Amino acid sequence: MSGFRTLDDAQLAGKRVLTRVDLNVPMEDGKVTDATRIERILPTIREISQKGGKVVLLAHFGRPKGRDDKNSLKQVVPALAHALGQPVIFVDDCIGEDVAKAIAAAKNGEVLLLENTRFHAGDEKNDPDFVKALAANGDLFVNDAFSAAHRAHASTEGLAHVLPAYAGRTMQAELEALSAGLDNPARPVMAIVGGAKVSTKLDLLGNLVRKVDVLAIGGGMANTFLAARGVDVGKSLCEHDLVGTAREIEEKAKAAGCEILLPVDALVAREFKANPGHRVVPVTEVDADEMILDAGPLSVAEVVLKLDHVKTVVWNGPFGAFELKPFDTATVTVAKAVAERVKAGKLVAVAGGGDTVAAMNHAGVADDLSYVSTAGGAFLEWMEGKALPGVEALRKD
Ligand code: AMP
Repeated sequence: MSGFRTLDDAQLAGKRVLTRVDLNVPMEDGKVTDATRIERILPTIREISQKGGKVVLLAHFGRPKGRDDKNSLKQVVPALAHALGQPVIFVDDCIGEDVAKAIAAAKNGEVLLLENTRFHAGDEKNDPDFVKALAANGDLFVNDAFSAAHRAHASTEGLAHVLPAYAGRTMQAELEALSAGLDNPARPVMAIVGGAKVSTKLDLLGNLVRKVDVLAIGGGMANTFLAARGVDVGKSLCEHDLVGTAREIEEKAKAAGCEILLPVDALVAREFKANPGHRVVPVTEVDADEMILDAGPLSVAEVVLKLDHVKTVVWNGPFGAFELKPFDTATVTVAKAVAERVKAGKLVAVAGGGDTVAAMNHAGVADDLSYVSTAGGAFLEWMEGKALPGVEALRKD
């Protein structure tokens, strides 16, 4: 991959390879309930191991304030060893003499997991002494945790400046997918942005209108844009204090030649619950006691039609309150239309950020898009056009 150092550039045999991974998996009663993150790091661990490196895994877990059993990575060991099909040696700290001894005692190709880096305040502070203490137990640094790359912490960024540093395979896949989405996309590019509120996505919208050719806005946030155009959205979720900002975004889009698509019709209801009485109306005919909870069929048709005129789609946020039926209709219909075109080789589509993964899973298309990023904050910061410190540190000079 051009631009970044990867495992292809690393001499791994006989080396102590400090490997930053995302093991922040959901747990219940001491068991991992979703092993997606574990699955994603396996290729990198296996490759380092097969090439004769000692794999020394570094990760954070939860938000501990000092040491506590609840946030110990020890509890992840069984699930990791099972997925890997090989034993994992746990070491109950991430710096110090005992760690050095455990690594020295391990054979080439063996896998060690060090205790939660956040048990030391120096990780999040990117404290140079803590970086040094971590680096003392490694010859190389591999970062495979894109989801933590928006934080300049010792284990995500600091280490990359003191040891030879490389992107792991999952990090590499993510960077390649994101680059195809916004940095060097096939044009025209359409961004789809939905979700609850404009206020949480101002930077994202500001960046996208400069970069994409079409911006389809859906979800609760579309209501604020409709209100800015003088539409009465009744009882809908709407940030009335942000109508001025919405107008500014529209103006910026116009100046940059970015077409904005807003819903023209909607599914409305009087109650926020599953299967309430609902009707389909033009957005100009929402009653004072009604809420817009999904985009209507004409709006969906307009977005789907556009899909045939673009080559790349970047997607964050659902078109409606997709957790409640039937307000998942627009999100599911558009997601399926995107997936069909990706499968036919007509479209590159990258989706991610928080609820978007759940929405794509709900639509049953998560495996059919070009890439679905499970990195919440890091994906959003990338969509906002921000440099991610953990990624920048892996760039070739
Ligand atoms: P976000 O985290 O900003 O992507 O927002 C996702 C949330 O927005 C989901 O939980 C949806 O239920 C919610 N949402 C989407 N459209 C609407 C809407 N029209 N009214 C209320 N909530 C919505």
